This record gives sequence, structure tokens and C-alpha cells, in this order.
Amino acid sequence: MIFTTRFAPSPTGHLHIGHAFSAWTAWQAASEKGGRFILRLEDIDTTRCKPEFDQVIFDDLIWLGLDWELPVRRQSEHFDDYARVLERLIALRVVYRCFKTRAEILDDIARAPHGAGEVYRGPVDPMSADEEAERVAKGESYAWRLSLDRCRDVLGPRFAAMQFIEDERGLLPADPDPLGDVILARKDVGTSYHIAVVHDDALQGMTHIIRGEDLFELTPLHVLLQTLLDLPTPIYRHHRLLTDENGQRFAKRNLSVTLKSMREAGMSAEDVRTKWGF
Ligand code: GLU
Repeated sequence: MIFTTRFAPSPTGHLHIGHAFSAWTAWQAASEKGGRFILRLEDIDTTRCKPEFDQVIFDDLIWLGLDWELPVRRQSEHFDDYARVLERLIALRVVYRCFKTRAEILDDIARAPHGAGEVYRGPVDPMSADEEAERVAKGESYAWRLSLDRCRDVLGPRFAAMQFIEDERGLLPADPDPLGDVILARKDVGTSYHIAVVHDDALQGMTHIIRGEDLFELTPLHVLLQTLLDLPTPIYRHHRLLTDENGQRFAKRNLSVTLKSMREAGMSAEDVRTKWGF
């Protein structure tokens, strides 16, 4: 199998030095292995993602010295694919409609029998099929949540046996329990990052997912989706996050660390890598 990895930014703003580190780490791993490097634009949030950022991302990455396979997949062009994934999860009966407001969710969490902690683990009083049909007919908005209880029922012993290889930490159990019942889609946006990323990583043949440590806690959920959808689980590597002199993570709103501003200030990619140590 050819080593295949990717960089998957969301074009909601200009890339910053943290993105450069992530893209560089993935690209370099692919180069070292003589593998494939794929760039994917994760732009399902059509209100926050702007097409004008796409070209800036390409220019930034070329300036960094990266190259990638064409065409670049834009997730906003593939909502049908993600809708089909949601349909499969509905057919498996592992997702449920959640009509609750934030306040109602907090109330459910407070009333949960075994001290559910901070996360949502489903309705305390499940609604009847009639009420659900009525609220759908009325056009009320809702979210599709993944029911961990239903996943346990459907997967049986496979649920507790889920695991994944983390490049630096070895074989780890994939326990999605700390996340509770996460939102996988909304009535108006029929998908989410989780559905799109898991679908596309499989479609594009990823053997290795190289991404920031901040996404580590979501990996068990992605392994669960792969298990439900009969998709292979790639090897994961969660790299350290670059921080500024105050130990803060870089943010898109901090314009001084965008790659665009650095290249416009005349810095070379090598200057940037030396300065930030990668
Ligand atoms: N699109 C995600 C982001 O911008 C990254 C997804 C991933 O690497 O899994 O943070």
C-alpha cells in the first residue's frame, strides 16, 4: 500500500504558522516514504468558508515548497456523498433526531442518572415516534446525534475492542465514551466535519492521518464511524502544536503570523522553518 497522507485545511481565513507546521509535517512524511500527499479543502461550513481563501492557501503552500496531487477535493462539491453516509447511519439506527435547545440539553445532563459529567448522553425521557413525526412535519429544526448506546448494541463486542495505531504512542483503545452523543449533522446542514473527514479519508485512500494534537480526542469517534461504515482505520499521528512566546496557540485572527503576511514581508520558507524550528 502506498503511504498516503493529507493536509485538510478549512478555508475560513488565511493559513498561519501552525498550519504551515502541520502541512509541512504531512508533506515531509509523504516525501520521505516516496508516498502521496493530498490537499483537501474542508469547506462544508459555507457561511464561514470563503472561496477567495482557496487561492491564498495554494499560494502559501507553494511558497512553503509543497506540491500535491490534482484535482484538489473541495468538500462543498460533495454534499451528496455525505448525505449517503448519513442515510447509512440512519438505516443502522445509530443516530437520532435531537430537537433540544442548549438549555434543555443542560437540563438533561443535570438529570442524567449516573452523573454523565459534562457531555450529553441522550435524552432522559426519549420522545415517542408520534411526537417526533409531528415535530418533523411542523418543520422544526433538529440535529442528528450519534447514540453511543445504540452503537454499543449494534457493534456488540466490537465496540469495546475498537483500537487504532498512534505512530508515537503505539496501539491505543478507541474509546468514544468521553465525547458522549455528538452531533453528526443538522437538518439544514446534512453533514459535519466528522462525517466528511471519515468519508473522504477512506475515499482518498489515506494510510496515515497526520494532524494536530488538538484533534487527538476526536480520533476514537472517527474510528467508531469507520467501524460502523466498514471503512479501514488509517494510522494516526498527532503532532505537537506550535505556540507563540506566551504559550498560546496561533489563531487565524492573529494576522501577524499568517503565511501571507510573512511571504509579503519577504521571508523565505526556510526563514520561517528556522524561526519556528521545523
Ligand atoms: N479541517 C480540519 C481543520 O481545519 C482538519 C481536519 C483533519 O486534519 O482531520 O482543523
